[in-house]
Amino acid sequence: MDYELSAQEQAFAAEVRALAERELAPRALEADRQGAFPVANLPPLVDAGLLAMAIPAEYGGRPRSTLEYALAMEELSAACAATAVLVSVHNSLVAEPLARWGTPEQRAAYLPELARGERIGAFALTEPSAGSDAASLQTRARRDTGGYRLRGSKCFTTNSRLAGLFLVFATLDPSQGARAITAFLVERDTPGFTIGPADHKLGIRASPSAQLFFDDCFVPETRRLGGEGEGWRVAMSTLDSGRIGIAAQALGIARAAYEASLAWVRRQRAASAVGQGAEWVLADMSVRLDAARLLVHRAAALKDAGRRVTREAAAAKLFASETAMWLTSAALDLHGADACALDTPVQRYFRDAKITEIYEGTSEIQRVIIAEQLLRAAAPAPAGAG
Ligand SMILES: Cc1cc2nc3c(=O)[nH]c(=O)nc-3n(C[C@H](O)[C@H](O)[C@H](O)COP(=O)(O)OP(=O)(O)OC[C@H]3O[C@@H](n4cnc5c(N)ncnc54)[C@H](O)[C@@H]3O)c2cc1C
Repeated sequence: MDYELSAQEQAFAAEVRALAERELAPRALEADRQGAFPVANLPPLVDAGLLAMAIPAEYGGRPRSTLEYALAMEELSAACAATAVLVSVHNSLVAEPLARWGTPEQRAAYLPELARGERIGAFALTEPSAGSDAASLQTRARRDTGGYRLRGSKCFTTNSRLAGLFLVFATLDPSQGARAITAFLVERDTPGFTIGPADHKLGIRASPSAQLFFDDCFVPETRRLGGEGEGWRVAMSTLDSGRIGIAAQALGIARAAYEASLAWVRRQRAASAVGQGAEWVLADMSVRLDAARLLVHRAAALKDAGRRVTREAAAAKLFASETAMWLTSAALDLHGADACALDTPVQRYFRDAKITEIYEGTSEIQRVIIAEQLLRAAAPAPAGAG
């Protein structure tokens, strides 16, 4: 077991941190206040290959290990969590399943454009009445000559206002549950497909999420990702690794709140205006950050080793997001009334942290996943087996 990052990993993290501090951090507060994504953030991300991390080199990608991807997510999130989630969804919820499940024709059609940032990806699973219980989704896909007609709606689809390619999950037969769910690649300008106005949210306010509407929207058979009824496997395998990105996002938000708190305590100490209680809070913050980082890096390293990481990714996401919530709340307490002003980053970290406990599966759902994995692993052999 090696607790040190390699020289290459450290250099990459430093490169992304410099980019995030130079390009993202200066626009983050205003973007949050306006609830509008700063599109000027995109060209530097493209130039650094950060929209091509899950894309094979033959399609113009700049592939990175999962650990490097997690390092990038931590650095971007410490500067601007709304930009980081765009990067996360684009890479791990769209480019990665397309590279894994796509036909050669689908990969050639979309991966180079995704790598160049000419199309941003979006992942549309959640519906107004199907969130945690995603298998009960109601968006219908009816077979029609040469393809399918989609009808229904999606909500809280991250990136929608900017996206050019949507990975959409629909059912061939709602009475069949997960077995009928099928995945489709839908281009932004497809007739019958409309995108609602940007959502107004508590946190990651600048992330351009929106509702989607499908009104007999025709999608050719060549744009089905995977087989009929394979959509649930596409979605669940995608979320397994997607959660590592959100865990790293929570870690980045928590780290930013810790760094702000450290600077604050140093200033207060210089003025002899802080007691030991504040120092203990700092100590607790740093220990929880370490623990969250170890879980995130373990999940990433195991995925890079080719292991299935359902439990490890859920554990990292659960712990890192709850750590981010605890730590950003403690940072607000430390700073006092000053941090409640809407022009300070600390209150933004607090609101952004809350979202990491909700998307890509709430904390309760992570516990359900972890418990299922534990019980499956611990199941005693049936009597007579052996
Ligand atoms: C900012 C933002 C961006 C998002 N982006 C995307 C996106 O890009 N694509 C996408 O598809 N979705 C996206 N989502 C949706 C997100 O994944 C869902 O909100 C989430 O899965 C929870 O679903 P829900 O909101 O319907 O809550 P519900 O499922 O209604 O849950 C409500 C409460 O009940 C609890 N609960 C539900 N079921 C159980 C259970 N079995 N056991 C214990 N407790 C349970 C939940 O934990 C929660 O506390 C986004 C959400 C947000 C807030």
